[in-house]
Amino acid sequence: MNALALHSQMLGMTMIMNFLCFLWILPSVWAVEEVLMDSTTATAELGWTIYPSQGWEEVSGYDENMNTIRTYQVCNVFDSSQNNWVRTKYIRRRGAQRIHVQMKFSVRDCSSIPNVPGSCKETFNLYYYESDSDVATKSSPAWMENPWIKVDTIAADESFSQVDLGGRIMKINSEIRSFGPVSRNGFYLAFQDYGACMSLIAVRVFYRKCPRVIQNGALFPETLSGAESTSLVAARGVCVPNGEEVDVPIKLYCNGDGEWMVPIGRCMCKAGYEAVDNGTICKACVSGFFKAAQGEHKCLQCPINSRTTTEGATNCVCRNGYYRTDSDPAQMPCTTVPAAPQNVISIVNETSLRLEWSPPQESGGRDDVVYNIICKSCGSGRSGCTRCGDNVQFVPRQLGLTDTRVHISDLLAHTQYTFEIQAVNGVSDQSPYSPQYTSVNITTNQAAPSAVSIIHQVNRSPTSITLSWSQPDQPNGVILDYELQYYEKNQAEWNSSLSRSQTNTAVIRGLRPGTIYVFQVRARTVAGFGRFSGKMYFQTMTEEEYNSSIQEKLPLIIGSSAAGVVFILAVTVVIIVCRSRRSSDRPDSEYTDKLQHYTSGHMSPGMKIYIDPFTYEDPNEAVREFAKEIEISCVKIEQVIGAGEFGEVCSGNLRQPGKREILVAIKTLKAGYTERQRRDFLSEASIMGQFDHPNIIHLEGVVTKSSPVMIITEFMENGSLDSFLRQNDGQFTVIQLVGMLRGIAAGMKYLCDMNYVHRDLAARNILVNSNLVCKVSDFGLSRFLEDDTSDPTYTSALGGKIPIRWTAPEAIQYRKFTSSSDCWSYGIVMWEVMSYGERPYWDMSNQDVINAIEQDYRLPPPMDCPSALHQLMLDCWQKDRNNRPKFSQIVNTLDKMIRNPNSLKAMTPLSSSVHLPLLDRSTPDFSSFSNVDEWLDAIKMSQYKENFSNEGFTSFDAVSQMTMEDILRVGVTLAGHQKKILNSIQSMRAQMNQITSVEV
Ligand code: AMP
Repeated sequence: MNALALHSQMLGMTMIMNFLCFLWILPSVWAVEEVLMDSTTATAELGWTIYPSQGWEEVSGYDENMNTIRTYQVCNVFDSSQNNWVRTKYIRRRGAQRIHVQMKFSVRDCSSIPNVPGSCKETFNLYYYESDSDVATKSSPAWMENPWIKVDTIAADESFSQVDLGGRIMKINSEIRSFGPVSRNGFYLAFQDYGACMSLIAVRVFYRKCPRVIQNGALFPETLSGAESTSLVAARGVCVPNGEEVDVPIKLYCNGDGEWMVPIGRCMCKAGYEAVDNGTICKACVSGFFKAAQGEHKCLQCPINSRTTTEGATNCVCRNGYYRTDSDPAQMPCTTVPAAPQNVISIVNETSLRLEWSPPQESGGRDDVVYNIICKSCGSGRSGCTRCGDNVQFVPRQLGLTDTRVHISDLLAHTQYTFEIQAVNGVSDQSPYSPQYTSVNITTNQAAPSAVSIIHQVNRSPTSITLSWSQPDQPNGVILDYELQYYEKNQAEWNSSLSRSQTNTAVIRGLRPGTIYVFQVRARTVAGFGRFSGKMYFQTMTEEEYNSSIQEKLPLIIGSSAAGVVFILAVTVVIIVCRSRRSSDRPDSEYTDKLQHYTSGHMSPGMKIYIDPFTYEDPNEAVREFAKEIEISCVKIEQVIGAGEFGEVCSGNLRQPGKREILVAIKTLKAGYTERQRRDFLSEASIMGQFDHPNIIHLEGVVTKSSPVMIITEFMENGSLDSFLRQNDGQFTVIQLVGMLRGIAAGMKYLCDMNYVHRDLAARNILVNSNLVCKVSDFGLSRFLEDDTSDPTYTSALGGKIPIRWTAPEAIQYRKFTSSSDCWSYGIVMWEVMSYGERPYWDMSNQDVINAIEQDYRLPPPMDCPSALHQLMLDCWQKDRNNRPKFSQIVNTLDKMIRNPNSLKAMTPLSSSVHLPLLDRSTPDFSSFSNVDEWLDAIKMSQYKENFSNEGFTSFDAVSQMTMEDILRVGVTLAGHQKKILNSIQSMRAQMNQITSVEV
C-alpha cells in the first residue's frame, strides 16, 4: 500500500469521524476554560506553516453540523528519516500563565501496514516557542528542538489497524498537555512527525481560570490559575450584601486546573437577614418575622404580644402595655405587670405581724414575680398615713420577697398600720403605673417596751453611782418608770437589789467604796416590764480617789468664785453637792438641810440643779461648761425648716468621729448680731445643755468657733406641737393625746426638779418626733427680756413680755413665775392638745381674757374631751397657786388614766355645758347667728359652706335634721370634722328644744 492509499484511508476515517458527536469533554464544573485557539472553528484554511513541503498536508472534513473543519495528515511511513513539522499561527497568551493543549488525533498501527520498514512510528512530538509578536517565517524559528521547547512525545492510547466494513472507525485519541509558565505576549505550537501515519484532527489551545463564585457567604472574583499545575492562587472573598465576616481572612485558592479549593473564613447573613438561594443572597426578614443575630438560622416569627415595624427586623417590639427585660431572649413573648396579690391574711401578735398571701391570678406571663411590702402608720382617721420609719423589721426582708409571707416586728403598740403588698416582676419598673397591690389594715396591740440599749455613768463617789440611760427605741407606750437591778460583780445575781426611777437617771446609794457593780435597767409601761438591758459594769470611787479629787477641785472653785455673790451661791451648791455625796450615808449632814431648803425641799441629795447662765460673770464660760463645741466640718446643713428668734432654723446631719450620723436641727445666729444677741442666743444652749431627759429637747452642742454661730439639737420630725395637731385634726385616739400630755408633764416635772421655771410653756414650744414623743423646748430668755412688741403672743409688761393666754394671773400681775405658774400654762397646753391646736380663748382680746379669768371664768372642755382631763385642766387653773397640782402628781394622774382607759370614757354632758359658768365657744349659741354660713364660721368649718348650700342645708331647721349620711354627702370625710359638726348639731337641737319649751 502506498502512502497515497493510506492517506485516502485516513481521509475516509476523518469523514466518518465527523458524524460523531464532536464534544470537548470539560473538566470539573468549577473550572472555566478560556480558549485561545480552536482549529475546529476555522472556516477557511488553517494555513499553518509546513516543513518540509512533502510532510504534513492540510485536508478538509466536516463536523456533525456539516461545517467544514481543517485537519493535518502525514503518512510517510515507507520513507525513513522523516522530520515533518507543522507550526500553528501566532497565539496570543491573554494573561494566561499556563497553557493547555488538547489534541484529537488518530495513529495507524505500524504492524497493520504491510511491508512497513522498522522506521515506522506511532508517536509525534509537541513543541512551543514563545515570542512577543508574530515574527515567525518559513525558516524561523529553526525547525528543531531549541529554539523550540518540547512539551512531550505524544503516543496514541489506541492505534488502529484498519477501517471496518461499516466504515466506522473508533480509534480517536484525545490527549491534553500543559506547559508554563509563559510570559511573552504569545507563542507558536509545532507538531513534529518522524515517521508515523497519523491525522491531527483538532487542536484546542486554552488556559484555565477559577470562575466568579459565591462560596461560604462571600463573593470571589474570577481568578486565573497559576503557572504550574501545582500552584495555588489565593483570592480574597467579599461578603455578599448584608452578610458579615465571621472568620477572617476569607479566602479561596484557585488550583492549576481552575478549581477552587481550601476555603478559609466565612460570612454569614447579619441580624435581620436570612440566607436564601443556597446561601448566595442575604434576604431581609419579611414583616412579622425577625432575626436577632448574625447566623445561618432563618428569620423567626415574632413572639406573642410583639410585632415588627420594618422589614429586616432584628427584633420585635412589644405591643402597648407589654414589656421585655434586658435579659429576656428576643424569642420570648412580651410580658406585662402582675395583678395584685390575693387572699391576704394578717396575724397580729402584740407589736409583730405575720402577713401571708396568695400569688396574683395574673403573673403577667412571667415567673419572676416578687413582693414588696409598703408600711404606713396611720392615725385613726382616713388621712394622715406616713411611711414607717427604718426601725420596723421585716423578715426575711421588706422588698423583693420571693415567698408569699413576711414577718414584721418592732411596730409601735396601739397603732393603726396599713400594709400594701405589691406584686412586681421583671417588667414592673418599665410600666408607667405603680405596681398593683393589696392592702391590709391592722392595729397593733399593747406590748412591753424594748430593752434599754446603753447605760452611762454620770457621776460616782465612794458610796454612790449616778447613772443615766436612753429611752428604749420602742417604748410601745408611755414609760411609767424604770427598774434598775444591781449587784456586786463578785456576788451572785440572785443577791441583787432593785431600785425604781421615774426618769431615765438614778442615783444608787449605799454602795461599797472601790467596788465593781453590775447594772441592768428595764422600762415599764402599762403593758408591763420590757427586757433588761445588757449588763454594764461600773465601779465606785475609793476613799483615796475621792479625797484627792476634792482637793484638786477646791482651789479652782474658790479662785474663780471671787467675782460675785451669785457665783458664790453656785459654789456653795457645788460644795454642798460634793459634801452631800460624800456624806450621803451619814443622814445628819449639816449641809443636807440647807441644800433642801435652797431647792424648795424638792431635791434629792446629789441631784443636779439648774444654774442660770446669766449668773456667770462671763456667759461664754457657761456655754463652755454646758455645751459641747462641735467642729463645723461635722455638720451638714440640708434645708431651712423654720424661722427662729435669731435666725433660720435648718435641718441637717451631724457626723461626729466614732458616732453614727444623726439628723439634727440647727439654729443659726444671723449675721450682723450684737454681742448681746450672741450671748442671749447661746444662753438657750447653756440652759438646754444642763438637761438630760427624754421629754426635754436634747442639745448636741454648739458651733461658736466659726460663723454662723449655731445651736445643734436632736431633730424632731413632726415640728412644733400646735401646728402638728392642727394638721392632724381629729386624727388621734384619746390615749395617744394623753400619752403626749404625759410626756410633756414628765419633762416639766424634770425641769421643776431641776429648779427651772420655763415661763413660756405652750404647745408652740413643744416639739414632736416621729414616734409622737413630745419634748419641751424653747429655753430662750430673750423674748422676756427685750421690749419688742412685734409678736402679739407676748405682751409687754413691767419687767418683760408675757404670753397672756398661757400665763397664770399672779405672774401677769406681779411677775410671780414659779413651777406653779408653769402648771397653769400646762393646763392651757392640755386644752390646746385636746382641741387639736385651737387658740386658747379664741379671738378674745388679752384684756378680755384677763378680766374673764379674774371673774373665775375658765376654758370649757374641748369637743370630745374626757371630763377627767378637763377636771385636771381646771385644777391647773386654780386661782391659788398652792392648790394647783405638782407636776409629779399630774404625771401620776395621767399614768392612772392610761392604765385605766375607762376613766377617760366619761364626757362632760353637752346639755349641761350650756349652763356651766365657764366660757364655751365650742358649742356656740346658734340663735346668735343669722345664717348657716355664720354658724359654720363660728365652729371653724367654713370650708364646707359651699357644700352645705349646694346640698340645700341653708336653714337651721334643715341643718338640725342632718344625719351622718347627710354629713358625708356634704363632703365631710375627716373623722374629726364629722364629730365637730355632729356635736354642734346636737347642741343646736338641744338649744332648739329649750327654746320651744320656754315658748310653750
Ligand atoms: P424656735 O426658734 O425654737 O421657736 O424654732 C423655730 C421653728 O423651728 C419651730 O417652730 C420648729 O418648727 C422648728 N424647730 C426648732 N427646733 C427644731 C427641732 N429640734 N426639730 C425640728 N424642728 C425644729
